[in-house]
Amino acid sequence: MTREKNNCNKCPELINKKCNGKVNDCMCKGCPRNLGECLVVRYCRETESVLYSDEEH
Ligand code: SF4
Repeated sequence: MTREKNNCNKCPELINKKCNGKVNDCMCKGCPRNLGECLVVRYCRETESVLYSDEEH
């Protein structure tokens, strides 16, 4: 099992070029969970809060 941080390539902020993937303060970046799944269910299990209640914020 790798511990490679590859959440960025699933992140809409990177895809929309709002983020260059180099930030250090992003919780998702270092999170062992799968951001792709989080986005589908729109829920962060790590913070137990809803993700992106609007398309843009
Ligand atoms: S659980 Fe939360 S912090 Fe972790 S990848 Fe999902 S949304 Fe990001």
